[in-house]
Amino acid sequence: MTIPSLIVLHSSDSPNGRADTVDDIRRWHTNPKIIGSGTQAQCPKCLASVDENAWRCNTCGQHFGRGWKKAGYHHVIEIDGAAMPLVELNDDEILEPWEIANGAYGYNRRSVHICMIGRDAFSYAQWLSLTDLSFQYQDQFPRAQIVGHRDLNPNKICPGFDVATWLAQGREVLEGHVL
Ligand SMILES: [Zn+2]
Ligand SMILES: [Zn+2]
Repeated sequence: MTIPSLIVLHSSDSPNGRADTVDDIRRWHTNPKIIGSGTQAQCPKCLASVDENAWRCNTCGQHFGRGWKKAGYHHVIEIDGAAMPLVELNDDEILEPWEIANGAYGYNRRSVHICMIGRDAFSYAQWLSLTDLSFQYQDQFPRAQIVGHRDLNPNKICPGFDVATWLAQGREVLEGHVL
């Protein structure tokens, strides 16, 4: 059990404006992943040969994912601004093992995670929702600092905008990142 020190913001890396949902995110993260790679790639369910980049098995219809036990985020902000719960959080400041999400490798035991649907441009409703939710998270986790995933891992672009700039300008809608 830990007290989170980070509130990590992400984006789903979906094409900007595409209305992916919290259920899509759950499937991408927790569906079984393809076994093997290259010409050896196989469907984990029926063992048919598949293309290693396929998202679905042509033989049995299984959708593939990353095979994680749990999804990566605690809330997903959909295109219409709805803040949808994904990995369950209770309402205290302590992060218990069952509340840990998979969003940022190496940081998950001390992080809570919020994901915006999109790559680097979001609807007004999403920006407003992020402002609300980020204040809500800070009420619950007063010792945690808000950062972007890319601030923790230089190989990531998510959440697709500079979180420090967004915070510095009072969590207003960030110019150049609006749908
Ligand atoms: Zn991320
Ligand atoms: Zn199959």
